[in-house]
Formats: sequence, C-alpha cells, structure tokens
Amino acid sequence: MADILHILWMNGGLSCDGESVALTAATQPSIEDIVQGALPGLPEVALHWPFFDYDSGPSFIEWYHRAERGELEPFVLIVEGSVADETNKDDGYWSGFGNDPATGQPVTAGEWLDRLAPRAAAVMAVGTCATYGGIHAMAGNPTGAMGVPDHLGWDWRSRAGLPIVCVPGCPTHPDNLTEVLLYLLYQLAGQAPMIPLDEFLRPRWLFEATVHTGCDRAAYYDQSEFASGYGSPTCLVKVGCWGQVVRCNVAKRGWINGVGGCPNVGGICIACTMPGFPDKFMPFMDEPVAAAADDGPGYGSLVRTLRGFTVRVSTGPPR
Ligand code: SF4
Ligand code: SF4
Repeated sequence: MADILHILWMNGGLSCDGESVALTAATQPSIEDIVQGALPGLPEVALHWPFFDYDSGPSFIEWYHRAERGELEPFVLIVEGSVADETNKDDGYWSGFGNDPATGQPVTAGEWLDRLAPRAAAVMAVGTCATYGGIHAMAGNPTGAMGVPDHLGWDWRSRAGLPIVCVPGCPTHPDNLTEVLLYLLYQLAGQAPMIPLDEFLRPRWLFEATVHTGCDRAAYYDQSEFASGYGSPTCLVKVGCWGQVVRCNVAKRGWINGVGGCPNVGGICIACTMPGFPDKFMPFMDEPVAAAADDGPGYGSLVRTLRGFTVRVSTGPPR
C-alpha cells in the first residue's frame, strides 16, 4: 500500500461547483474525517481541491502537472462538471483548468481528462453534469457537453482495473459522495472488494431503490391521497413527482444529518440522478405519464377505508 494516496479534484468542466459545495456538508463521513486520518485502515490522504487548498494559481495547478508526469501515483481523479466538445467550433474554448506552461494556453477539461485518466488508479465522476452531461447537455446547448463515461467510454478501466464510478445528483448527495470516495480509498488500500456498480456505473447500494420506496409520503400514495398544490402533506405525484421510477436514496437518507430529502420536505422529485436528466423528465410540474396513479374508486379508496377502520378499532376503548 502506498504511503500517501492523492486525490485530485478537477472542477474545470461545465458546472455550478455544486459538488464542491456538497462536499463541505458531508458528515458520514466528513471530508475532514477522511483527510485528517480519523478513519482506521486508510493511508495518509492528500486532497488537492480548489476550494480547500492553501496553494493557488500556478502552485495549485502544479499538482496536476505532477500527476501527469507520473509523480503522484497512486491517485484518485475526481471530476466535477461536464466535458465540453472542444472540436465543434473554429476557435476559443468552452472550459479550462489552468494553463499549459509550455504554451501559456488554457488546458481544457477534456484535455486534462485525457492526460490524467490513463495514470489514475480510479476515476470518480461526481454530479449529474460529470456523470451524464446534466444541465449543459440539454437540447440546444452549443457546448456538446457530455459526461465522463461518454468522453472516456463506458467500458473504460483504470490502471487498477476499476470502471468509472459515477455518483450523480444535481447536486450529489454530500454523504453519497464521501461514502463512495471512502469505499474507493479502502479498495485501493486493499481492504474492500471491487465496488459494485449498476448499468449506469452508480454504486448499487446507493442507487438500487426508488425515491418512492423511501418517501415519507408513500402511505398517502397507497390510499390515493394526492396533493393538487404545495403545502399539503400528501403524495406529490400529481404535481410532478417522478419518485416512483427514479433511483435515488435521498428520501431515505435525508439531506444533511438525516434531515430533509426532496419529497419529504415538499419538493417533487425531478429525477436529477438519472441519465437523460433534465430533457427526458420535462416539463417539470406535470404529472409524469410513467408514474400516473389510480385516483379512482378502486384500490386506493379501499386501502383508505380499511386503514380508517383499523385505526378506529385499534385506537378505540378496550373491550
Ligand atoms: S411524493 Fe413522490 S416519492 Fe413520495 S409517495 Fe408520492 S410519488 Fe412517491
Ligand atoms: S429525490 Fe429526485 S430530485 Fe431529489 S435528489 Fe433524488 S433524484 Fe434528485
């Protein structure tokens, strides 16, 4: 096992820096736990992250040039932001990260990925922009933005044999982000088996269940009680919630310290962890066709009636 595991965080793609902000909110584990050696069994970790590093400008970018020269191995490359197609115009560039000392010209996000990925022990794409293109890949966007798997190839493997690991979300859930990073660090330290991923390269244990299965409002769905506007505690499917078909653990996990989670606190699920987001799931606020619920005098009404009966009987005076 190496004495130091480096983590290079590249936020030069097209993004709002939402994952960098999310990282500051993680608690299980926190990024401080990871970098300060609070977790047993990990080697020393050196995080090179623009939000956090004391170095700035050329001194900060030098870590990336060192990684390219093979001086920092092993390292995990974390990519935030989508990768623009830099070939679709005559001049200029869409997004870059520092300058090339030889030419003085910006190094684009895609170029960094091509330089660093072959040397990385693992590549982690964080946020829906970096994983599947996200907001910048919407129809009509001129950047030709794409996620890391579309840029490197879905079958790409690191020199340690790992596939690209995707942690989508707009933004990524803070603890999903640090939990997956921690898993990869343990795997690279030889203390965890190959990370299990689904067909969209997401860690299975986080993205197996739908939002609906963990939603506080699911009992209302069962008995066909649907909100027609905001401010109601009932199910939000008729005001546009996609939770029944979207795989995401946020409703179950809560947002920070177990509190919150989109539909639990009144926000519809807009499918932000899914490939094809946002175009495939628009227009928002309309009842999703794929998730249409039976509001008729059938199953839901029967469940509601029987539950009401059971509640009255079980909470009535003892016989
Ligand atoms: S609000 Fe959404 S996730 Fe919650 S029960 Fe309704 S459809 Fe399911
Ligand atoms: S519940 Fe839906 S909108 Fe909220 S984070 Fe998960 S996928 Fe995104």
